[in-house]
Amino acid sequence: MNNNNEIQKKRRRHMRRGTKLFVYAVVLLIALAVVSIGFRMFGPVNMSSSEVGNITTSITTTGTATSDTTTAGTPESSALNSTAAETTTGSKTGSSAPLVSNRYIQPAGAEWNIKLVNPWNPIDTKYSPPLVAYNGDKTKMFDSRAIDKLKALIAAGKQYKISVASLYRSIQLQTDLFEKEVKKVMSNQGKSRAEAETIAATVVARPITSEHHLGLAADLLFGGYPALDQSNENTPAYKWLQEHCADYGFILRYPKDKEDVTGVIFEPWHYRYVGEEAAREIMLRRITLEEYLQEKGK
Ligand SMILES: [Zn+2]
Repeated sequence: MNNNNEIQKKRRRHMRRGTKLFVYAVVLLIALAVVSIGFRMFGPVNMSSSEVGNITTSITTTGTATSDTTTAGTPESSALNSTAAETTTGSKTGSSAPLVSNRYIQPAGAEWNIKLVNPWNPIDTKYSPPLVAYNGDKTKMFDSRAIDKLKALIAAGKQYKISVASLYRSIQLQTDLFEKEVKKVMSNQGKSRAEAETIAATVVARPITSEHHLGLAADLLFGGYPALDQSNENTPAYKWLQEHCADYGFILRYPKDKEDVTGVIFEPWHYRYVGEEAAREIMLRRITLEEYLQEKGK
């Protein structure tokens, strides 16, 4: 009897030890998962970027793909020569900010039409594209190697009254706009320089990270809808562009639900020239320039 009791006690002790080990393992796994999710959401991958255009509309966003946008509804005529901001993914909303899970770094020496400029691929400050004025307007410069394609695209979509809002932006212009926003945040919110820069970056792109520096990006206004906001998605012009922009070598650069790859919110108004071959594949497969380049190793 005694022996049997001893054996049973030992068995129970063994089982308790086994249960304890199992519980420890589960707790450890949960802790690891929490840490990794926390890192992705709040860690250094929470990139923010934005760009500044020639529109007085300041678009704010909650940082999600279908985020609400507030627009000033600026008439196109007065919008063209004024200054404003397009907001892209922001870190200000914390947990709702998109995750940047794919931060492809492009190897040096990429061809001009597929150069990647985003928050983690800043433009080489020595890069100077050959620029030409769009329809003689020197506030609207574009890469001379692609200007005919831009003109052809606009001409083809004539019935949708597509027009050009913002093309090339110099690093100096972006620097000025970013600086202005930083100063505004510092004085309005009493933030330190470093804090103000982080906040400003959710409204205005940090210099050298805006694709507009390449002279290959075009912000397009659609007739009858003169604001750059996400409801442009519901216009016939947008639908036409999705079907035809690749014919002219352009892509929708910041698609919906790809914020984690591009680091930028859905921008139905922003198109990028990449050349017809890349454009057709990107638009057909509904992928991003980042994904395309990574796949091709370009
Ligand atoms: Zn743009």
